Amino acid sequence: MLKYDFCQMNSKLKEKIFKDIQAVADRVETETYVIGGYVRDLFLERPSKDIDIVTIGSGIDFATEVAKNLKPRPRVNVFKNFGTAMLKYKDLEIEFVGARKESYQRNSRKPIVEDGTLEDDQNRRDFTINAMAFSLNGDRFGELVDPFNGMDDLNNKIIRTPLDPDVTFSDDPLRIMRAIRFATQFDFEIEDETLKAIARNKDRIKIVSAERIIEELNKIIMAPKPSKGFRLLEETGLLEIIFPELQNMKGVDKVNGIGHKDNFYHTIEVLDRLVPNSDNLWLRWSALLHDIAKPKTKRFVEGLGWTFHAHNFVGVKMIPKIFKRMKLPLNEKMKYVQKMVGLHMRPIVLSEDIVTDSAVRRLLFEAGDDIDDLMTLCEADITSKNPEKVKRYMKNFKVVRQKLKEIEEKDAIRNFQPPVDGDLIMETFNLSPCREVGLLKDAIKEAILDGEIHNNYEEAFAFMMKKAEEMGLKPKG
Ligand code: ATP
Repeated sequence: MLKYDFCQMNSKLKEKIFKDIQAVADRVETETYVIGGYVRDLFLERPSKDIDIVTIGSGIDFATEVAKNLKPRPRVNVFKNFGTAMLKYKDLEIEFVGARKESYQRNSRKPIVEDGTLEDDQNRRDFTINAMAFSLNGDRFGELVDPFNGMDDLNNKIIRTPLDPDVTFSDDPLRIMRAIRFATQFDFEIEDETLKAIARNKDRIKIVSAERIIEELNKIIMAPKPSKGFRLLEETGLLEIIFPELQNMKGVDKVNGIGHKDNFYHTIEVLDRLVPNSDNLWLRWSALLHDIAKPKTKRFVEGLGWTFHAHNFVGVKMIPKIFKRMKLPLNEKMKYVQKMVGLHMRPIVLSEDIVTDSAVRRLLFEAGDDIDDLMTLCEADITSKNPEKVKRYMKNFKVVRQKLKEIEEKDAIRNFQPPVDGDLIMETFNLSPCREVGLLKDAIKEAILDGEIHNNYEEAFAFMMKKAEEMGLKPKG
């Protein structure tokens, strides 16, 4: 028998909806609780608008009763197959479900479900901090029902399964990803036995769909310190299964006593360094993938040391396969990541050399509106332990940023549209589409990027006339 711990917490339940639910629960005499993530988030002071209500009996019938008593009356969205109902009320999303008992089969994470008690329902929850419930009935309103001491674990910042962790993770291995995700999001530690069970059950992750895994991985990437999650994934052996390309980056090879940096730890440090400056998920993916081809391109060259020749371009080519396998979008978001990975060496090369106008113009032309994101990524990429080196790079990047600004103001290269287009070329020289049209167009673009002419119609037109004459083209008429 589980020990229930009651204490008065009703001052926590501030939303008026809980009083509305209480009125219905008392009238229809149904034991009712708010449970799970909402309760946890109340204590963590993370405002949440998703409320899970558990009733002892039909969640759908209960939701229908609650809806009748609300003004304006919300629609009841019923999911018969799951035995759940959902109401959208004001800015809240309230899900109702009858308390249930679950049992699992070996090859599926979909349980066989039966009606159950609150205790059964709490037993099926993934972590102690996610199993707490507040009663919503009569004079028990606001009593915390916390059979697994979730409160202690919250206070001590611990992720722990309520029951045997081997059973919990083997039953539904998505919980493995959730454990690591919560530890990363909240900066909690995974209790020792729970962590060991994750490592023991890592292969069970193979029955979880790629869509579910990526949802959790993206939450890890968006956490305040994503490296924590990637370290846990690596240490428990999961990374090897779900992201072998990243796992491959771990380790240092040595030749003649010369090593290179560990690219796994470098990558996750870059990701952390990006956090304060960008909450763009795709820029964070770019950070994760910027050096992904380093293991593939690694060579030791006598007299030169370790090289990773063209790792940016090889990386660009690896991305579609990774995105496809992980069920990430294969649209413009992937193209953006490819662009960032492809260009991530450019600002560094640029800053090491004398920053010429034409090199800056070319970078602006290729990066377009994503130039600021590229600079943010490149700044995060400087993880050297040598403060002098960091200072020098940062100073050089400042120069590059300043130059980018000046050139953009002058030449508007960012969203480059040729001031003289193919149609005008064909019209002027009475040509149909042919090689010469392409050559002229390219020559105009190159002249603008090299700073020979400004990015305007008059100069581009005059340049075209001169170039055409050299090519032996005559204007019509
Ligand atoms: P978040 O909203 O950040 O995803 P959450 O804990 O609210 O966190 P939900 O997926 O909304 O996540 O789940 C609500 C509750 O349902 C959880 O707090 C937990 O009690 C339970 N739960 C969700 N998924 C599982 C699972 N795979 N195994 C066991 N219990 C789960």
